[in-house]
Amino acid sequence: MLYRRLGRSGLQLSALSFGAWVTFGKQVGRSQARDLLALAHDRGVNFFDNAETYNNGVAEQVMGDVLADLRFPRDSYCVSSKVFFGAYDKPLPTQRGLSRKHVMEACTQALQRLRVDYLDLYFCHRPDPDTPIEETVAAMDTLIRQGKVLYWGTSEWPAEAIHEAHRIARENHLYAPVMEQPEYNLLHRSRVEVEYAPLYAAYGMGTTIWSPLASGLLSGKYNDGVPADSRLTQPGYEWLRESVLGHGSERIDKVRALQLIADELGVSMAQLAIAWCLLNEHVSTVMLGASRREQLEQNLAALDLLPRLDAGIARRILQVVGAAD
Ligand code: NDP
Repeated sequence: MLYRRLGRSGLQLSALSFGAWVTFGKQVGRSQARDLLALAHDRGVNFFDNAETYNNGVAEQVMGDVLADLRFPRDSYCVSSKVFFGAYDKPLPTQRGLSRKHVMEACTQALQRLRVDYLDLYFCHRPDPDTPIEETVAAMDTLIRQGKVLYWGTSEWPAEAIHEAHRIARENHLYAPVMEQPEYNLLHRSRVEVEYAPLYAAYGMGTTIWSPLASGLLSGKYNDGVPADSRLTQPGYEWLRESVLGHGSERIDKVRALQLIADELGVSMAQLAIAWCLLNEHVSTVMLGASRREQLEQNLAALDLLPRLDAGIARRILQVVGAAD
């Protein structure tokens, strides 16, 4: 495994990490989750990502039960949660958002579900237009001082809001956000590469990037239709199917063209897509998702490809995908 610093912080995360979205508590039950987490930890993965909203808290419960069962030393891994969407289908106004009340309560609930004493990373899952940023920054600072959270960050916040959070933290001597959790993959690049560019230099911001395979699209699995047991057939995820596949043939055509490069390198399309993310030095960790062991095995082996992705291959890849969208 390769380890990278989370931005300017001293925390070293595995370059490949593992998340629970869609899978844990839906496609993947406890025994399979145990198998996946054991495999990941065994291969040096030290960061497991979660959120209050993933299957309404069930993903955290499953992960917490399995972590307790596996008895990994607590200092050998990091675990995260994210607050904003709530853990109910129809959350009450106090059960969602980034108010001090919900940030504090959601943290307590995540600690209970994950069965840990502190969260290594805690994210504001989206910006909350109904809460002043001052209130959220102060709540996160409180959680850090209470020892319930070690590092806090944002997920899909506009760069402007992150600047604002840093200004508030600096002026009030509060803990500032350390990391962002943005989507980043071959088909979705501009926020990480363009919008956030000034933040890396200004604050040493780290990133834990999500959907490196664009929910599986970049594995090539949707080139000829939607396999029956895939994420895009899960009830309740019709919106995801539309967002992943509702772009005509353009994205699939790109995947087919990228597949030729993967074939030349003798690797899978998924491995090419994952290793490519790590070419960006501002990516602290690529968060993998997997609904079965073979996928995780294959994706973790993407690291072996990284030294072979030279400037010439990177150029050819970018010629296929075009300008950052
Ligand atoms: P990916 O884009 O890598 O999608 C993972 C899915 O793709 C798997 O569950 C599987 O789905 C399929 N897949 C994975 N590997 C392969 C393979 N080798 N061959 C074929 N299919 C494969 O990542 P995620 O979208 O899961 O994102 C990773 C993590 O990021 C999440 O678990 C979550 O922790 C985090 N995240 C954060 C978000 C945020 O807003 N902050 C949003 C989304 C995710 P299938 O079951 O169909 O086979």
